[in-house]
Amino acid sequence: MSRIIERALGLFFPSECPVCGKPSDRSATSPICGVCWANMTRLPANCCGVCSKPLEVEGISKCGDCYATRPYYSTVRVYAEFSGAMKEAVHLFKFSGVRRLARPIAELFKDIELPQADLIVPVPMTKKRLTERGFNQSLLMAKAISDFTKVPLSYDTLIKVRETPHQTTLKGSERVKSLKNAFRSAGDMEGKSIAVVDDVMTTGATLNECAKALVNAGAAEVIGIVAARTVFQ
Ligand SMILES: [Zn+2]
Ligand SMILES: [Zn+2]
Repeated sequence: MSRIIERALGLFFPSECPVCGKPSDRSATSPICGVCWANMTRLPANCCGVCSKPLEVEGISKCGDCYATRPYYSTVRVYAEFSGAMKEAVHLFKFSGVRRLARPIAELFKDIELPQADLIVPVPMTKKRLTERGFNQSLLMAKAISDFTKVPLSYDTLIKVRETPHQTTLKGSERVKSLKNAFRSAGDMEGKSIAVVDDVMTTGATLNECAKALVNAGAAEVIGIVAARTVFQ
């Protein structure tokens, strides 16, 4: 969109960037301004090749956790740290219902080389949670990624069979326990490579349980595509 039209829109929809406080100047990512959007904190270069956790030691390809127990997914592509503009964007999108941010968040992955996949599936929600929120944020992102990668989207291949507590309230081992067998694959995944899309990952426990359900249904490989990762200092 031309800058003149963007400015004109700004007169009708004035908003402040929640990250820097300056007027929002970019309709596609509004209220987050173009500068903050372009300066999201990417993950460090030295990350685990499987779960993408930042590594403290040079010259290794996997973190200790992934060496000890190989996850069901083979790798995950993460765009940014869950901080700054990305954190604001995810909160606006997920909790304030600014659904139009799904597309610009998903389109960040146009800059990243994604592994080949036969099918894109979102991390599902239970019907109850879906009714409460009104939309599945991972499905909206998965749809946008499917649009530009041309990889088919399936929203009913993976099902969440029971409610789980909010993961942010639980410690690592409790997360794994609470998610056990929470997902089920509804179709035959024999030999397929599946890309699972989610908005935020913390330990990777959700992605791993989704991957487990798909691998048990015959999937040859599961990869994750996740907008943001919590990075513990
Ligand atoms: Zn800003
Ligand atoms: Zn790892």
